[in-house]
Amino acid sequence: MQKIKNYINGELIEPIGKEYIDNYNPSIGKVYSFIPDSDERDVELATQAALKAFSTWSITPKEERSRILLKISELIEKNLERLAIAESIDNGKPVSLARMVDIPRAASNFHFYATAILHDASESHSMEDSAINYTLRTPVGVAGCISPWNLPLYLFTWKIAPAIASGNCVVAKPSEITPMTAYLLSELCIEAGLPKGVLNIVHGYGHKVGASITAHPKIPLISFTGGTKTGAEIARVAAPMFKKLSLELGGKNPNIIFADCDFEKMIKTTLNSSFANQGQICLCGSRIFIERSIYEKFKTEFVSRVKKMKVGNPADAESKLGAVVSKQHMEKVLSYVELAKQEGGTVLCGGVQVKLEKEFSEGYYIAPTVIEGLDYNCRTNQEEIFGPVVTLTPFDTEEEVLMYANSTQYGLASILWTENLTRAHCMAGNLHSGIVWINCWLLRDLRTPFGGVKGSGVGREGGFEALHFFTEPKNVCIKLK
Ligand code: NDP
Repeated sequence: MQKIKNYINGELIEPIGKEYIDNYNPSIGKVYSFIPDSDERDVELATQAALKAFSTWSITPKEERSRILLKISELIEKNLERLAIAESIDNGKPVSLARMVDIPRAASNFHFYATAILHDASESHSMEDSAINYTLRTPVGVAGCISPWNLPLYLFTWKIAPAIASGNCVVAKPSEITPMTAYLLSELCIEAGLPKGVLNIVHGYGHKVGASITAHPKIPLISFTGGTKTGAEIARVAAPMFKKLSLELGGKNPNIIFADCDFEKMIKTTLNSSFANQGQICLCGSRIFIERSIYEKFKTEFVSRVKKMKVGNPADAESKLGAVVSKQHMEKVLSYVELAKQEGGTVLCGGVQVKLEKEFSEGYYIAPTVIEGLDYNCRTNQEEIFGPVVTLTPFDTEEEVLMYANSTQYGLASILWTENLTRAHCMAGNLHSGIVWINCWLLRDLRTPFGGVKGSGVGREGGFEALHFFTEPKNVCIKLK
């Protein structure tokens, strides 16, 4: 069985402790490879390699850094099929999704930042004829990048690309639940000629590798995407060391549907925003609020279409939903369905594990689930489930639905369906979230700020926001007279 290796100082190496963790294929519920169970010694080795590389990489001309990042992007595109299959096996997601979304986006992340650094500019502030200020931006040093399992290569590269593009060196940890494409990326970085030590990937558990990166005194900056609880722990450890922090955390996003929306467009997108990647996207709209006059029509149509969504082998082109990422996660999601029933909810469809046949009989499949009849402020409607489970709630007025939408501890994304322009702008201004999608979902322009408010995080990724995060500004003031 394949043993994944750490990528440290330009080489693929075993963890110092020679210990490994089982890596499961969730579609069949079986171990199919081994992941390094690295510890603080591996993080130290990676940090030393990154520190050494920083002295050269930070002054490498941006044209040269750009050239190497473009090469990595090209190699991801060239290996798209292999990476998509690897992502699907590791994560359980339909291979069609990995092929259409995850892997192309990983290539775009490198391409975007490879070209962005060529167009970045710094500011100057003139004090009439007495003085002039200009801002220098320099890379911070060694960046710690920690990413989750739901969009493995997509989110991993979303951090690494701006970090190394702007001249930092990186110690990165992918989720130990889905490490395979990060490992394949390390092979591509070697092929692309990325100088040794610029990117170091240390595989292993969050409480060992992730915690060591967070606490390391020579890593002054942490970019983290994951759960809100883990984000709070990272902030607790990093704050007394005054580390720069970017935290992209959980979500419990509202999908608000007004009666005047384009019904067909809305329902097609709502199937996606509810169940894409088995509902395991931080941006999924898991709380659906429907204007009362179309509640019954929506419910009937939506449930009938959800029942037709095929749950199956992720490699099968007809499968709309694959497996959820792990047995433990499947049990967590199903426990929320039980909670919803206890809280008075009615399960309109799904709510159960799906048992497939033959080699897939031990896989972790859940039927897409729709629940109604819950209070907006019950636990099911307030806590992040992060699976194929949505709730339906009717509303009568804009004020009422705004109160429902803003009632959780989260504030990542909101989705709004209406053809009324004034209402759309007013609602967008009043929703407590970092992103508002109107009459669409997951439409992404990489230049825009990405991130959440409240318990959904601190800071923004995307565009020049990320380049600013990964650099330190220095104001230089020159007196002229
Ligand atoms: P976790 O918070 O459990 O883990 C995220 C990463 O942090 C993993 O690599 C994990 O390692 C690591 N980690 C765990 N404990 C620590 C620690 N003490 N110190 C440092 N690192 C640690 O999240 P999940 O992987 O379960 O991902 C799902 C969550 O991510 C959801 O809440 C989702 O909403 C959120 N998310 C947010 C996004 C956003 O942009 N806002 C985008 C995508 C997901 P290990 O795997 O070993 O536990």
